[in-house]
Amino acid sequence: MSTTLIIKTCPTCASDKIQLVVKDVIRKYKGQTYTVPAVEFYECPNCGEKVYDKAAIQKIENYSPAYRHEHALAEV
Ligand SMILES: [Zn+2]
Repeated sequence: MSTTLIIKTCPTCASDKIQLVVKDVIRKYKGQTYTVPAVEFYECPNCGEKVYDKAAIQKIENYSPAYRHEHALAEV
């Protein structure tokens, strides 16, 4: 089952310039910065809105220090 999200217009400003990009996402958790490499998400060049699909959110969560313990256990 595909969970691919297809967005043609920005949900914030309705611009049709929104596009799928692959970028490193930098997040903060409890003052600690972590980088999630090569995340696929939609970014609107007009208003800066970012839209993450399920897979992208899951990937970000996997890299989060908040989930690291659980992740490490899953890999054993
Ligand atoms: Zn926008």
